[in-house]
Amino acid sequence: MPVLTRLIPSPVVVDIRPGALDDLACVLADERISQSGRLAIAVSGGSGARLRERIAPSLPGATWFEVGGGTIDDAVRLAGDMRGGHYDAVVGLGGGKIIDCAKFAAARVGLPLVAVATNLAHDGLCSPVATLDNDAGRGSYGVPNPIAVVIDLNVIREAPVRFVRSGIGDVISNVSAVADWELSHRVNGEKIDGLAAAMARQAGEAVLRHPGGVGDDGFLQVLAEALVLTGIAMSVSGDSRPSSGACHEINHAFDLLHPRRAAAHGEQCGLGAAFAMYLRGAHEESAAMAEVLRRHGLPVLPEEIGFTVDEFVRVVEFAPETRPGRFTILEHLDLRTEQIKDVYADYVKAIGR
Ligand SMILES: [Zn+2]
Repeated sequence: MPVLTRLIPSPVVVDIRPGALDDLACVLADERISQSGRLAIAVSGGSGARLRERIAPSLPGATWFEVGGGTIDDAVRLAGDMRGGHYDAVVGLGGGKIIDCAKFAAARVGLPLVAVATNLAHDGLCSPVATLDNDAGRGSYGVPNPIAVVIDLNVIREAPVRFVRSGIGDVISNVSAVADWELSHRVNGEKIDGLAAAMARQAGEAVLRHPGGVGDDGFLQVLAEALVLTGIAMSVSGDSRPSSGACHEINHAFDLLHPRRAAAHGEQCGLGAAFAMYLRGAHEESAAMAEVLRRHGLPVLPEEIGFTVDEFVRVVEFAPETRPGRFTILEHLDLRTEQIKDVYADYVKAIGR
């Protein structure tokens, strides 16, 4: 009788705790990711410089690379600079931009990537995707999953609280994204990967139901783990389906229609998710989600991030065009402008001001 199984591309090391950064060299050596300590570490010039000062003495074999920003050019330049250095691994030490640059560069030079996240702004820290700005705007590039993910909760506490809040909105939106996936399964017969859906939904539910806040380690631990599991859920399904539905189409529409005024990724996704839940008739879930988002200081109404109702209606109308081929509650209902206005008015009444 064959034992049917599958291998999941996932990190060898997931180290999430206060003080994790101080043990980075030991952990990488113990896990045989880097026994020689020859690491290429990508950091930002700004907040990265302070961290570099702090941990450089514990990483004597490392070479440090300053990364300018989050463009494809920055990533290609980084890969070029690292070439021929005989490193064991590339370490991306910073926020999403630095980690995505390092992910892309590591893939290009054929080295494993260690993601050391210094904030929890979104679920990209452990995903098989690098999001980089290019001439056409913004592109998503498929890359291998990080071999190790290290999150030092003491470092996370030093990040601006807005970045932590953003991660909350992003992971809570999983609940809506999975509901969109199930809708597409019912309506179109789209295949659901049950494991990926379970991981993404449980991550979202854990954060949604956790009584704590951004100030306590217990909550930050659950949030960081939820973001890592969401990234792995994307590796399991092979795309962003477990964590990206109408919520993310609305987020992309904000970004594309208002590139200069757009709010943080997770702020827009959380708002998008609460509204999408209402659209699908899950009114209680929508209100509960809105309440949690509010408790964490996240927006649930467009005016809270500087947009008028008409602008939001246009965003919702445009949203399906941002992800052709993805079927969500937005494509399913295919609402006209006036209908979006009406349902938005009902949503505002339902969640209360
Ligand atoms: Zn997201």
